[in-house]
Amino acid sequence: EPTIGILALQGDVREHHRMLAESGAKPVNVRRPEELLAVDALVVPGGESTTMFKLAAAFELLEPLRKRVAAGMPAFGTCAGMIMLADRIQDGIEGQQTVGGIDVTVRRNAFGRQVDSFEADVPLDAIDPSPQPLPYHAVFIRAPWVESVGAGAEVLARVASGPAAGRIVAVRQGRLLATAFHPELAGDARIHRFFVELVKEA
Ligand code: GLN
Repeated sequence: EPTIGILALQGDVREHHRMLAESGAKPVNVRRPEELLAVDALVVPGGESTTMFKLAAAFELLEPLRKRVAAGMPAFGTCAGMIMLADRIQDGIEGQQTVGGIDVTVRRNAFGRQVDSFEADVPLDAIDPSPQPLPYHAVFIRAPWVESVGAGAEVLARVASGPAAGRIVAVRQGRLLATAFHPELAGDARIHRFFVELVKEA
């Protein structure tokens, strides 16, 4: 089974640990450049992207992360992690940088103007290989949305209904995957399993 690191600077690291262990991977925490070099793939958890960026810079992880992503390491970012994997941010703090890799612009705290946290169904047709997949019951907490998608990236899912209907909340670029919601909090491992399959193909 693949060894999948979880960037353990800040955020919901333990929840990803549990989901990865249930999904056929060996999860390990990554805080140092040497630990990053030892993993097959990386999860960037939900949390707060401004803090995660500052800690990644302080721990001298930003450049090593960019290098491994550029060299083809699979990565999966959720919420703050989606922001970290996006090439461009709107409404970041002054000087906020990302690791990048996915050719999208994300808008930070986008839904928060209406409501901080909510749950919504997200169709999983592009992720769950079963013939008629049930929608994913997704948890959004001060989430970003994907404002625009460049030529390199692919939309995997949009919110199905409600005030946020149509907003892009899951994207992929090759073996990089990102969701605006928190699959680590949902008790539904289908998205983690999809990622573990991507890692095995790599
Ligand atoms: N609002 C947070 C950020 O900007 C993301 C929230 C989350 O990960 N739940 O990073």
